[in-house]
Amino acid sequence: MLRTCVFLASSSLVLFAAAAVAAQDQPLRIIAFGAHPDDCDIRAGGTAAKWAALGHKVRFVSVTNGDAGHHEQGGGQLAMRRRAEAQEAGRRIGIEYVVLDNHDGELVPDLKVREQIIRQIREWKADLVLAPRPNDYHPDHRYTGVLLQDAAFMVTVPNVTPDTPSLRKNPVFLYFEDGFQKPAPFRPDIAVSIDDVLDKKIDMLDAHVSQVYEWLPWHDGTLAEVPKDPAARKAWLKTQRDPEPTAATRAALEKWYGADRAKGVKTVEAFEICEYGARPDEAQLRRLFLFFR
Ligand SMILES: [Zn+2]
Repeated sequence: MLRTCVFLASSSLVLFAAAAVAAQDQPLRIIAFGAHPDDCDIRAGGTAAKWAALGHKVRFVSVTNGDAGHHEQGGGQLAMRRRAEAQEAGRRIGIEYVVLDNHDGELVPDLKVREQIIRQIREWKADLVLAPRPNDYHPDHRYTGVLLQDAAFMVTVPNVTPDTPSLRKNPVFLYFEDGFQKPAPFRPDIAVSIDDVLDKKIDMLDAHVSQVYEWLPWHDGTLAEVPKDPAARKAWLKTQRDPEPTAATRAALEKWYGADRAKGVKTVEAFEICEYGARPDEAQLRRLFLFFR
């Protein structure tokens, strides 16, 4: 349930997973949290597809089951439909997708959900955790950000949630991009070109039929524009474009890719370093984001 949609189209994935992973002992382990079963896809689906294509392990977690995200359906039936859509979306780019069974529209940053998140991060043995910032129009998004901040240190504390072994090494925590300005605008510390995986990202989003072709257009008053035919509606989905990268995001692209390579980049996913969790230096970030070479 995001107000603005993202996406676009382009080429295909390059699969040299084994060689890439062999180059650095172990596959990276990345876990991303969104409030609803499509939020991670919108903010990091392209970057996740790039990691997966290189043989790294990615899990998306929806903190709610999405059972309020529709104008005609709801409850358990909608939750089951959205879980199936999320799992299909994950399958299409080669990642895992977990949907936690908390009600949509009712998320609060309580101990029960904090423990669920701590367990997810520990079980995944995450090197890197992605999440929304806690400034957002939607309370579920906002509280997902708070819950991740609350878990960031606790994942290393053995006496907290002791049924799941704690991590000895604190992961790096990063925020997804957003457009909110208060109390502080998003700061793109890292910017990833996703031009090469746009088709994959569209394919992933296309799996969320109840959202991208039904609920979001209904909410935006554009439902009549959505074609009925599956191929035609997927083509329509490609036209629902992201805003252009901001000046700050362009500057981040130049930092990581160099000015020449950054110039031609059209579509970007960007991330901000969270002040909690591990504090990565530039070399660590280059190990986590292996796309800049
Ligand atoms: Zn959402």
